[in-house]
Amino acid sequence: MTTQTTASEIVIVGGGIYGASLAYQLAQAGKTVTLLEADDIAAGASGGSGERGVRANSRDLRELPIATVGFPLWTKYQEQFEGGVGYRRIGGLHLFNIPDGAHEHEVRGTMEAMTMVQNALGVSSQLLNRDETLEREPELSGDLIGSIYCRGDGVCDHTFATLAFAKQARKAGASLRTGTRVTEILHKKGRATGVGLTSGEVVPVGEKLVLLTNSGVLPLLKPVLQPQEILPVITQIPQMMYVTNPHDKKINHLLGHAYRKLSVKQIQDGTLMLSGGHSVAYSQAGRWKGSLRSTALGLADAIATLPFIDESSFLKVDASRVESCAIDGIPIVDTSAALQNTIYGFAWTGHGFAIALGFTKYLTDWIVGGEKPQALEVFSAKRFHEPFSN
Ligand SMILES: Cc1cc2nc3c(=O)[nH]c(=O)nc-3n(C[C@H](O)[C@H](O)[C@H](O)COP(=O)(O)OP(=O)(O)OC[C@H]3O[C@@H](n4cnc5c(N)ncnc54)[C@H](O)[C@@H]3O)c2cc1C
Repeated sequence: MTTQTTASEIVIVGGGIYGASLAYQLAQAGKTVTLLEADDIAAGASGGSGERGVRANSRDLRELPIATVGFPLWTKYQEQFEGGVGYRRIGGLHLFNIPDGAHEHEVRGTMEAMTMVQNALGVSSQLLNRDETLEREPELSGDLIGSIYCRGDGVCDHTFATLAFAKQARKAGASLRTGTRVTEILHKKGRATGVGLTSGEVVPVGEKLVLLTNSGVLPLLKPVLQPQEILPVITQIPQMMYVTNPHDKKINHLLGHAYRKLSVKQIQDGTLMLSGGHSVAYSQAGRWKGSLRSTALGLADAIATLPFIDESSFLKVDASRVESCAIDGIPIVDTSAALQNTIYGFAWTGHGFAIALGFTKYLTDWIVGGEKPQALEVFSAKRFHEPFSN
C-alpha cells in the first residue's frame, strides 16, 4: 500500500458538477485541494447528452433560498470564464391545464398561490393567462389555461459546465485525479484521516473530506453510520428523449407542466429534448436504450402539450445516468456523527444541477469559515430521525 506524503487540506471525492465547482471555489479561496474521481470528470449525472434545466419555477420551496443564491452565479461564471459555462438564461414557463377531476378554482388558486410565494421567496414570478402564455409559446396546445413565468430560469450544457469548472479548478491550483475510485474511508478518533483507493494507495486527508459521489455516497458512508443515522435514499435513472423538429418550430423557454411529468427544451441544434418523465428500471450502468413504457408515457405527455411533436421523428433515447433521490424530495447535506471532519451532499433527486452553485457556495463558506451556514440546516439528515427539528 502506498501513501501520498503531503495531505491536501481538502479531499473531495466525486468529479461531477458538485465536486468540480467546489474544488474551484475552495482553490480560489486559497485551500489546497485534491479531487478524486473514479472515472472521468462528468462521468455521472453531470455529464451526457443534451442540456439540464436551471429552474426555480415550481421547485420545492425549501430549495428556493439556495436557487436565489446560486442562479446569479451561473450568469457570473458564464461571463467570467473564457468560453463560459454553457448557460443560457431563456426564462421558464410552468404550464397549467385543468386535469380530469380537478376544479378550476383550485387550479387557478394554486397558480396564484405559487406565484405569490415564489415572489416572496425572491424568485421573480409572473402569472400569465392563456393568451399571454401563447404569445410567448404559440405552439402550446388548446387545453392550456395559463402559466407561471420565471425570467431567471434557463438551461445549461451540463457536461460543458462541469468540464469548465474542472479546468478552472486545475488553473486555480487544485489537483484533480481521474480513474481513482475510493473504496474506504480511514478514520481515527472521530476524524477521517485518509481514503483508500482500489489501487491500494491511501490519500491522506488534511482538514476536511467531502463526499460528492451522488449514488456513491451511501456505500462509502455505510461502514461508519450510527444506527440512528438513517439516509432514506433510492437510486433512479431518469430518461431523456430527443425528437426532430420537422417544421422548424421555435420553443422559446424551458417548459414544465403542473400535471404532466414533462420538461421540454429546444437544444442548440434546433431539435427537442424531452425529459422529466418516468424513470427506467435501475441498472448500475444505466440503460442506453431507455424503456418503452417511459418512452410511451413521456411522448404522450409531450404531444398533449405541444401537438406538433406528433409529426416529429424519434432521434434517440438516453437513460445512462444514475441519480440518488431522497424520499422527501430534497437533498441531504450534512456531516456524519462518526466523522466530524467529513461533509457529504447527495440525493439531489433529479433536480440538483440547477442549484449546484448555490450549494457549493454554502459548502465553501462552511469549509473556509468553520461554521455550518444556517441555510443548509433544512437539508440535514437529522430531519429523518429528529421529528420537527427543522
Ligand atoms: C437524466 C437526468 C436529467 C436531469 N435533469 C436535470 C435538470 O433538468 N435540472 C437539474 O437541475 N438537475 C437535473 N438532473 C440532476 C442533476 O444532473 C444531478 O443532480 C447533478 O448532476 C448531480 O451532480 P453530482 O456532482 O452530485 O453527481 P455526479 O455528476 O453523478 O458525480 C458524482 C461522481 O462521483 C463519482 N464517484 C462515485 N463513486 C465514487 C467513488 N467511490 N470514488 C470516486 N468517485 C466516485 C462518479 O463517477 C461521478 O462522476 C438530472 C439528472 C439526470 C440523470
